[in-house]
Amino acid sequence: MYGYAGRILRVNLTDRTTKVEPYDLEIARRFLGGRGFSAYILYTEVPKGADPLGPENKVIVSTGPLSGTLVPGAGKTDITTKSPQTGGYASASVGGLLCAELKYAGYDAIIFEGLSESPVYLFVDDDRVEIRDAANLWGKGSLTLEEDLKKELGESFQIASIGPAGERVVSYACITHDFGRQAGRGGVGAVFGAKKLKAIAVRGTKSIPIADLESFRQQAREMFKACAESPALEVWQKYGTAGVVTWANEIGAFPTRNFQSGFFEKHESLSGEVMRDAIVVTDKACFACPCPCGKYSHTKKHGVFVEGPEYETTALFGGNCALADIEDVAYANYLCDELGVDTISAGNCIAFAIECFERGIISTADTGGLELSFGDPKAVFTMIEKIAARDGLGDVLAQGVKHAAEVFGGGSAAFAIQVKGLEMSGYESRNAPSMLLSYMTCDVGAHHNRSWSITYDIEVGRDSISPDKAAKVISLQHIRPLFDCLGACRLQWVELGLSLDSYASVLQALTGVERSWDDLLKISERVWNLTRAYWIREVDGFGREWDSPPPRTWEEKVTTGPTQGSSISWEDNQRLLDMYYEQRGWDKNGVPTRAKLAELGLTDIAAL
Ligand code: SF4
Repeated sequence: MYGYAGRILRVNLTDRTTKVEPYDLEIARRFLGGRGFSAYILYTEVPKGADPLGPENKVIVSTGPLSGTLVPGAGKTDITTKSPQTGGYASASVGGLLCAELKYAGYDAIIFEGLSESPVYLFVDDDRVEIRDAANLWGKGSLTLEEDLKKELGESFQIASIGPAGERVVSYACITHDFGRQAGRGGVGAVFGAKKLKAIAVRGTKSIPIADLESFRQQAREMFKACAESPALEVWQKYGTAGVVTWANEIGAFPTRNFQSGFFEKHESLSGEVMRDAIVVTDKACFACPCPCGKYSHTKKHGVFVEGPEYETTALFGGNCALADIEDVAYANYLCDELGVDTISAGNCIAFAIECFERGIISTADTGGLELSFGDPKAVFTMIEKIAARDGLGDVLAQGVKHAAEVFGGGSAAFAIQVKGLEMSGYESRNAPSMLLSYMTCDVGAHHNRSWSITYDIEVGRDSISPDKAAKVISLQHIRPLFDCLGACRLQWVELGLSLDSYASVLQALTGVERSWDDLLKISERVWNLTRAYWIREVDGFGREWDSPPPRTWEEKVTTGPTQGSSISWEDNQRLLDMYYEQRGWDKNGVPTRAKLAELGLTDIAAL
């Protein structure tokens, strides 16, 4: 199996056993790796109706064939589980060095199953695998734990861990790795917490078999050269994703005050330039990355170091909670990372609570005496801590904005910004119909990274509803997640313009299997349809209604900024959804047809 370790590590936390298993080459052929492997394992191994926090649910930590090789950005790990937040499919990708170390230890994936009765962590040093007691680690923040565990085990171990929020099963708890990289969305950290699995520590010294070493080397070298020569490299490296803040405001897409607007009047104080000057200490890269978009920062005001803030964090705590000081956004970022919560969901939940407070739906009787208002950093910091501690109002918000709207009532569901129970990431999209469609149809809920089509809306006309917009979303939903199957970062393609064909070609040199980029896209489509089938199997009545946008997007107009007054009508939105279903080969209720499942070779797994 060129390009693969060829083995899976199975860890049963109930009886504390571990087992190394070979797996069928056919699985690699059909699902490639990473998120493809994980989706297959989730569908076939986790029984229908399993409690996400119970012993039957599993967490799959998976690498791809490119992971750990010298292809630019080959440092992405996929973490998949049944989501405690949405009840459906959750898959979170995390950069850093974990996947490389895991592959060097000789495993393509780890499957965690069962529940431990007491805190443990998994220790992997090549073939030495131990489930170790973690009583002394329980309660530690993720950043603190990583430092401590590295001191104890050695710098060469790669650590991924949960913080106190994961221990308390906050529904959007994340898994932290490499001092601030996050497997953030869908509550993968909550499932670790339910299993009492505090951390993974991995080190490996083996190598990855390569089919045509000379060709692989040559092609990887050319890909690095193309990155180095890209005219976009300088800006991308200097500002990373924070460089998007100014542009997002210019186009009216920066979520502001719980997505009431797409323009934050104080956005200039949050720009990539201001951030770089005020707090950035150094650049930081994932494994084998020639364009370090990570920014390591120090906020003097709060006295802490943090990786970030990334664009999403600045969007959700800056604009959406109206924090106008980048040092405050950095501190909110630090609290989330140390306590182990997803910044996107946390920023949404707090902004939602503030709006409820300002509208009189909740009061100081609900908040424990805390006054909530947009732009108040102390209120935001306190709420992050309360969410992680599940204290008072924090306990309600810890279960997500959809749940909070059910508890608060008062019509608040109309401005709970979520799809499928997952809070929306950082693009206000009332004036970007294909971006809104991307959120509606994303396989984990309202997440941006499967299809970031907002630039297409701008290119072809912001208001237009047309089949090509549905086609664009589908195309991106196959290309971008394919990188999560490969185990590599997509940003060298998105930002620096590496050709997609170069990935197909280098993969062929690595694995020895002849496949075009179109062949690989077919695998990605297979995975997309399998995850859709998973939702249908797991969620009673799942269908079109679950792809609905938040009511605010069609009931209210944008309040300020360049897109002021815009909204999308329900009829137009649903027309675009119809085009999307038709092009996907799904019925009007969003269910893949038998013909589509047969075309993708899925009928033996998912018979809907
Ligand atoms: Fe990591 Fe950024 Fe490099 Fe991608 S571009 S591999 S996210 S540092």
